[in-house]
Amino acid sequence: MRKKVIAGNWKMNKLVGEAEQFVEDVKESVPSSEKVESVVVAPFTHLHALVEKAKGTDLKIGAQNMHAEESGAFTGEVSPEMLKDIGVEYVVLGHSERRELFGETDESVNQKVHAAFKHNLVPIVCVGESDEQRENNQAETIVEDQVKKALKDLTNEQVQDVIIAYEPIWAIGTGKTATAEDANAMCTHIRNVVKAFAGDEAAQAVRIQYGGSVKPANVDEMLGQSDIDGALVGGASLKTDSFLALVEAGT
Ligand code: PGA
Repeated sequence: MRKKVIAGNWKMNKLVGEAEQFVEDVKESVPSSEKVESVVVAPFTHLHALVEKAKGTDLKIGAQNMHAEESGAFTGEVSPEMLKDIGVEYVVLGHSERRELFGETDESVNQKVHAAFKHNLVPIVCVGESDEQRENNQAETIVEDQVKKALKDLTNEQVQDVIIAYEPIWAIGTGKTATAEDANAMCTHIRNVVKAFAGDEAAQAVRIQYGGSVKPANVDEMLGQSDIDGALVGGASLKTDSFLALVEAGT
């Protein structure tokens, strides 16, 4: 049985005081991490404070991006070592907003995935097709290509520990959710792709989240699917009651 993982991707929202208050309000109510992994993925400026606030609880903290190098002349960047140093445990890589707006490529995502493993950070690797690609029946090939490139040259053991987030771009922040059947079909496809290059054990272990307009009203249906092991949630993760309903659904 794969443990579900629910991650709230706050994107560029909340000031640090609001973020701390959020963690204060939910930290005693999140379910045991033996049942579900509950993660808040916050802006860099908040991470240190949130890790400190969440210490000793079942709430985990993640970053929204990082650089692949450990240190050096990369003005404006944050390294995996810096994240690890303050106690961050997860990192979202290759979110479609980073691919579309900030020039993230499959190759840079792959470098960052390797860097995450080097520093014992759990990578949440985002993949997903655009509206146009889905209409042109390219969704499966696009996603397959993204998965293969992002996980290139990992060992099969590492692949087991990756979290893949399938987020169709047309469903992000739009209120348009993929049907549970369509979402599951793509997650099954991803698992088969993983099986082909990393073997059955890795394919059975790797966790695949769905993301794109997930909310308390539709999360149960998504998590009830055979190949959906969690959710990456933007908008609906910003309020405490909604976040708690989502992580509860993962138990
Ligand atoms: P959304 O965002 O839940 O607001 O659609 C999901 C994401 O971008 O991870």
